Amino acid sequence: MQIAVIDIGGTKIKYGVLTGTGELLHHDSVPTEAKRGGEAVIRTVCGLCNELKERFPVEGVAISSAGQIDHEKGTVVFATDNIPGYTGTDVAEIVGRHTGLPVTVENDVNCTALGEHWKGAARGMDDFICLTVGTGIGGALFLDGRLYTGARFSAGEIGHLCLYPGGRPCTCGNRGCFEQYASSIALAGLVRDEFGDGFSLEEFFGKVSDGDERAVKIFNAWVDDLTTGLQSLVHIFNPEGIIIGGGVSEQGDVLIEAIRKSLDGKIMPNHRKSLTVRAAEQGNKANLLGAAAHFLERRAGR
Ligand SMILES: [Zn+2]
Repeated sequence: MQIAVIDIGGTKIKYGVLTGTGELLHHDSVPTEAKRGGEAVIRTVCGLCNELKERFPVEGVAISSAGQIDHEKGTVVFATDNIPGYTGTDVAEIVGRHTGLPVTVENDVNCTALGEHWKGAARGMDDFICLTVGTGIGGALFLDGRLYTGARFSAGEIGHLCLYPGGRPCTCGNRGCFEQYASSIALAGLVRDEFGDGFSLEEFFGKVSDGDERAVKIFNAWVDDLTTGLQSLVHIFNPEGIIIGGGVSEQGDVLIEAIRKSLDGKIMPNHRKSLTVRAAEQGNKANLLGAAAHFLERRAGR
């Protein structure tokens, strides 16, 4: 079978066609133009579905979306003002009516976790935590062989763990949240303070790899904040794996080894033994894979 897959992000809508075995037959992206609001974004999605329907014999639409998603009804429980008016949007109903196809919707970080579980770094793991480290920090909890989404589909907001009470203000309205210190934006801020403007994170990681003292010091301070957040999660959930996705995961071994080393110093020995830290493997395809995995699960009635 073939499934139309769509990933609605803050800057891009990625879309494509996947087979039931996870082979990506086609993929492309368009700008989200999020500021136009939720209704306009969903109109774009409907247009993309039509385009895919004309070219491929798709039997359904699987959507990965920013925001907290009721994955049973396919509605947006809560979304920030990045996409104005998106909260409350009945995505599955609108896209289903427009295409005449069955439609499923799941949160984008949950889709990253499902995609990595199906075809990536979390293959075969029954208990893992997935973190996407980018402009913010997204989280997904995969426990006992399935996603854990909480009482109202909003579990796993790892980015808003309180790291420093009374600290920097956060987009969620609180202060001192994890993502204000351990996201790639936070790292970029530290780099700017030390090296000035116009110094990219890529150049910075080059310096870290070369052993530049100032760069290594900043890197270690940032990793220290990152692993202080992870420390609590490991002790609460005793995961088999921590999967790091998002832009920084491209740094691969340098990053993963630093996290592992720092985290080992903060967690109990029995937790240390059973834990694997890995970079996500499917990159920007993970969400499309995960959306399809979610579609197939729901179709199978699981
Ligand atoms: Zn917050």
